[in-house]
Amino acid sequence: MTISSRNYAPYIEGDAQAFVAKFPDDDDAVAIRCYTSNLIGRESSLVLHGGGNTSVKSTVTTKLGETIDVLCVKGSGYNLDTIVPKGFPQVSLDHLHKMLSLDSLSDPEMVNEFRSHMMNASSPTPSVETLLHALIPHKYVDHSHADAIVALADQTVESATKIFSKVFGAELTFCVVPYVMPGFGLAGAAKKALESAPADVDCMILLKHGLFTWGPDAKSSYEKHIKAVSLVEKYLESHQPKPLTMRPFSESSEKFFDKVSTTFRGLYSDLSGGKSWIVSFRESDTVASFVQSEECEELSQVGCITPDHVIRTKALPMVVRGLVESKFYDVEESYFKETPESDTKLRNYLKSALDKYIERYHEYFESNNLRVGGIKQELDPLPRVLLVENFGLFTVARDFGSCSIAADIYEHTVPTIMASNVVGEYNPASLEDLFDCEYWSLEQAKLKLGQSGKSMKLKGKVVLITGGGSGIGLETAKLFASEGSAVFIIDMVEERIASCVATIKNCRGALVDVSDPVQVEHAFHLACRAFGGVDIVISNAGIVVQADPGIASVDPAQLALSMNVNFLGHQFVSSAAVRRMVTQGSGGCLLFNVSKAPLNPGAKLGPYCIAKAATLALMRQYTVDYSHRLIRSNCVNADRVRTNLFDMELVEKRAQARGLSADQYFKANALGVEVLSADVADAFLYLALSLKTTGSIFTVDGGNIAAAPR
Ligand code: ZN
Repeated sequence: MTISSRNYAPYIEGDAQAFVAKFPDDDDAVAIRCYTSNLIGRESSLVLHGGGNTSVKSTVTTKLGETIDVLCVKGSGYNLDTIVPKGFPQVSLDHLHKMLSLDSLSDPEMVNEFRSHMMNASSPTPSVETLLHALIPHKYVDHSHADAIVALADQTVESATKIFSKVFGAELTFCVVPYVMPGFGLAGAAKKALESAPADVDCMILLKHGLFTWGPDAKSSYEKHIKAVSLVEKYLESHQPKPLTMRPFSESSEKFFDKVSTTFRGLYSDLSGGKSWIVSFRESDTVASFVQSEECEELSQVGCITPDHVIRTKALPMVVRGLVESKFYDVEESYFKETPESDTKLRNYLKSALDKYIERYHEYFESNNLRVGGIKQELDPLPRVLLVENFGLFTVARDFGSCSIAADIYEHTVPTIMASNVVGEYNPASLEDLFDCEYWSLEQAKLKLGQSGKSMKLKGKVVLITGGGSGIGLETAKLFASEGSAVFIIDMVEERIASCVATIKNCRGALVDVSDPVQVEHAFHLACRAFGGVDIVISNAGIVVQADPGIASVDPAQLALSMNVNFLGHQFVSSAAVRRMVTQGSGGCLLFNVSKAPLNPGAKLGPYCIAKAATLALMRQYTVDYSHRLIRSNCVNADRVRTNLFDMELVEKRAQARGLSADQYFKANALGVEVLSADVADAFLYLALSLKTTGSIFTVDGGNIAAAPR
């Protein structure tokens, strides 16, 4: 549970030249800048999610034929692991030097000066650490927030200086910059530190923040960076971590896990005026044993390892103690009955933990806002990192991507705190300093980058889709994801799930046969681990089962097969969903794909149509039984949609029998238009958003009066 040595990629000249070849229209110096930036960016122990930045000084010739010295520095919105030349805005170096001689500059003024002195007006905004890069008189500059470096930099200035001297010895010379918030002030502090350091100093330690190295070429700057980090890692590795005192562990069932995650989701919604949140669990041995230790409360309540993490994790995580299953749910069956007393007991317990955190956050806001002149507006006070005894690490955000970022950060935070305490005393940026970063307009602007301007109708919602890997289910998954929903796919084909997870944003999935209630229950548990709960279910999986020549001669096994998938499958899924929605307490939405079968049964399709008719009745039963919980239940009657359900040979035969081509068969409706999977997806979305509609049949069939409800 501490920091150990890693093997960092060596600088390979051939690879650097490959970058030059890859970007023939760009400056070679910038192409090589991309190469070592990518090397740094791919190591999570060096930088995480947009942390760190790099630069190169070069020249450009303008349209007027003038040659101008420029600083090409990482632009906001780009990450080092994937940055390309256009991610490096070019800013007039001469102008940056003039800016450095000013006495003061506000953040908006600083950004305005950067943006109005770029060579390309459409470039991204230069990093907030641009002036620091301009200040260093070397061609290449690398800056990271390496775990090992911050473990030592998160000490008092005396302690940090002493340890770095010991660790770097004769191998590297360094200067130390006391903690100042990134921006104009930090550049000034760094200037002072450099002025009093020897001219050939190798690197700069930014206390409570990170490392700067530089060189005449990309190779020397990168190699110095790796050398500094490796020396510290080796030093930390040679120290035995301080043993933690473990509290007894109480194992929980999957059912209790789901109760906890859905209760958290419901409480976050209650405490934020009805917004939806993703509550994501991260399997992490390191964090889990930290959480289980007596020392967790003390060690975790100090502050972030480097200040820019604050916008992702808030300054402090919330620690929840004593979450023991038997304290809330004493009998196995109670999970299957509606047990308001047990649910309420758990909800009150978690709410009181959240209330305490919120109260403390208000105090933190008020005292710090007073300090800065009362000009800030309080952000939401809800914790983003939950350290829950007997469980481990949960992260909470309005989208799954942000949960993952917060979890990644916390997985690096724990070993860094531990390492820091082994060699000295963890003493990171103070809560006042973290407040300044959290409420810094330039940091808040970072959060907005990468979010599309489109207003997401389902932001923070979780949708579970059965048969989600192809056809109507897949189109629905894509559509709901595009509206900001996290998507959990259930399908019978592994490759389809893998493809959805790889291509759909915020998507996870499970291989499940919906006719098996045990598998269904486990899939909902996995959805709770990934996203915390569920809001919308699209119960869509189905199979076509026929009885030829008629229902009287149906093979009972075939009828049972159809009932299992086309009826019981819907019930198993709805039941698992509704039990979680009830605990969550934020309402819910069940959507069934019943097709036209219950309304206008097809000849020889008895087993299919009968089961679908039962599912229509099921939809109505849920409306009757759960409307008081604000759980809505609706279905879609879609007809003749080209999906895997159709045996195309059979379609050809049927079409032929009616004197039609297959295409004509699909358009044989009143409007004469083919109904596509995307049209059905639109209908599901419409119903999901129609908050006052329940118990309805929504028809998407191009017009077929024989299938109209009557
Ligand atoms: Zn930094």
